[in-house]
Amino acid sequence: MKLKVCWMYHDIMDLYGDKGNMMVLKKRCLDRDIQFELDTCGIGQKKDLSEYDLIFLGGGADKEQISLIPDLLSRKENIQKAMDENTFILLICGGYQLFGQYYIAANNQKIKGLQFYDYYTDTGKQGSRCIGNIVIDANLDGIKTRIVGFENHGGQTLNVKHPLGKVIHGYGNSFDAGQEGFYDGKILGTYLHGPLLPKNPVVADFVIYKSLKKRNPDFKFEDLKPLNETFEKGARDTLFKRFNIGG
Ligand code: GLN
Repeated sequence: MKLKVCWMYHDIMDLYGDKGNMMVLKKRCLDRDIQFELDTCGIGQKKDLSEYDLIFLGGGADKEQISLIPDLLSRKENIQKAMDENTFILLICGGYQLFGQYYIAANNQKIKGLQFYDYYTDTGKQGSRCIGNIVIDANLDGIKTRIVGFENHGGQTLNVKHPLGKVIHGYGNSFDAGQEGFYDGKILGTYLHGPLLPKNPVVADFVIYKSLKKRNPDFKFEDLKPLNETFEKGARDTLFKRFNIGG
């Protein structure tokens, strides 16, 4: 089996080690004899995104988001085709914001989003940002998991119809949302950097499973061979202890 990934705007959207997500996917695939092919797509590069099993878009500062938006909007039809053909999409922070209606940057500039979803992102109060470690409880197609990460965003994402999870510690979609991210079976958007996948092997495997399903419709989550997760567990336990919550 093979997993083909396209990391969009890899050169400008890579905040807080979002690249680590790609490294983890690669390792967890290779450890299971699943071939892993990582491609990138920068501004102006010709690519058919529907050829991939997974599209990944990381986080970025307002400046980077503004610079890539004309290119991203020009790919709207192709991204829609990819989603229709079951390419899975993983979006972190700035990338997550751009799949909604719009994002109002800290300088009040309104950036039009891809508008695939109803959610939109307003700017927070002048100079205020949601920053810190975050823990959420999520339900991924029936798989219940506690997810840990780090958030740093000014944007306040509202009108989220299908949140990824309930906030246990930290902020999430907005200062008082109580909910974090977006998941509707086709895209998983989240404010969690950290990066997300190294500390959350269940999410990493879930992303692999959803992506493999494009070419292998009968593939099941349980088909992924268990791996040694001693380090991952240690990293998670440290955080849980610090916040006095259970894993
Ligand atoms: N620039 C966006 C914000 O501040 C996204 C930041 C990020 O990707 N961490 O809300």
